[in-house]
Amino acid sequence: MTGTRGTRVLVLNSGSSSLKYQLLDMRDSSRLAAGLVERIGEQTSRLKHTPLASGGDVREAEGPIADHDAALKAVAQELSRDGLGLDSPDLAAIGHRVVHGGMFFTEPTVVDDAVIAEIERLIPVAPLHNPANLTGIRTARALRPDLPQVAVFDTAFHTTMPESAARYAIDPRIADRHRIRRYGFHGTSHAYVSRATAELLGRAPEDVNVIVLHLGNGASASAVRGGRCVDTSMGLTPLEGLVMGTRSGDLDPAVIFHLARVGGMSMDEIDTLLNKRSGLFGLCGDNDMREIRRRIDGGDEAASLAFDIYVHRLKKYIGAYYAVLGTVDAVAFTAGVGENAAPVREAAVAGLEGLGLAVDPERNAVRSDRPRIVSPDAARVAVAVVPTDEELEIATQTYALVGKNT
Ligand code: ADP
Repeated sequence: MTGTRGTRVLVLNSGSSSLKYQLLDMRDSSRLAAGLVERIGEQTSRLKHTPLASGGDVREAEGPIADHDAALKAVAQELSRDGLGLDSPDLAAIGHRVVHGGMFFTEPTVVDDAVIAEIERLIPVAPLHNPANLTGIRTARALRPDLPQVAVFDTAFHTTMPESAARYAIDPRIADRHRIRRYGFHGTSHAYVSRATAELLGRAPEDVNVIVLHLGNGASASAVRGGRCVDTSMGLTPLEGLVMGTRSGDLDPAVIFHLARVGGMSMDEIDTLLNKRSGLFGLCGDNDMREIRRRIDGGDEAASLAFDIYVHRLKKYIGAYYAVLGTVDAVAFTAGVGENAAPVREAAVAGLEGLGLAVDPERNAVRSDRPRIVSPDAARVAVAVVPTDEELEIATQTYALVGKNT
């Protein structure tokens, strides 16, 4: 690794109206600053900046921030106040989260005009995410044209899936013409967590098979054999698979024809229904697992049924990926629900003793932000809770790539 290029990496996660960021020092992977700009383009934009290196107070500001360019400049200003300005020679690179890299991007990639053009070409399969990610890249490039910008793709970890898992059973000519296949998402998290799980077991990633359950507001499962993804639950878009906060996950595709033909709904209405008004929220009016648990404790039946549907789907995927892998060393729970909701972990593996899966109630009840095993010592398969860290993974991949290229 070069000593001349600096050791800091700025990680940017640019959404349609938000910009999340973290500045890390890769000498020890420590976080120097983190923050978020929300409601970009509105009168009530909000910037929240946490100066972690100095241990100073969180700074919050409200007022109109017109676009991502203005947002990044505001972030740069905040960082300057901490002596961490983006003009510093200590900054080695900027790492960008990019949601859809299609089949083309299998690795983190240094951004140039051709890379931007390819991310643009993928907009039809990621109409919400890729344009926002590109805005972040363009803005950062304009601000520091001399600095390597690295795109880290949510889909990249899943490009190792065999065709048998990646293809839908439709005419391949039609599928190929429209680039329809199962891409999978949350790849950065699945990569990080599967590796961290192997580490927790004290084994090399090449030697372990892991089922990773990333249960946040969006949720996905993956089957990872020896460090390589062989199946994942999200597909062409993040709609497929598990029951999520507001997404339905799997359903009979004919439900869509039915809603259009019989229900008289437009395609846009159905899209909104399935992506934004379904899942836990659609079932019971809440998408936050904490609130759902509170309602269940109070005897609420709709919340109880929503929980049962969520867990039933989760259990089906554990069984499916067990079969895909043949032998399983660990099932790893991660993200907001996976890391915090002990009842979800308990219910997901309940009755699976025959597969070697169980949780130890005491271990499962412990709250911690450390990776840990919550199954009994004698269990054949480890059940693990492994906090995800997508920013660290993006920074690590970015720094490794920049080091390689210098
Ligand atoms: P995102 O997918 O938006 O990145 P997260 O991974 O942060 O989300 O997960 C957010 C979700 O995690 C919340 O909607 C909530 O359901 C769940 N969650 C967060 N904290 C807890 C907790 N203490 N107990 C149960 N669920 C939690």
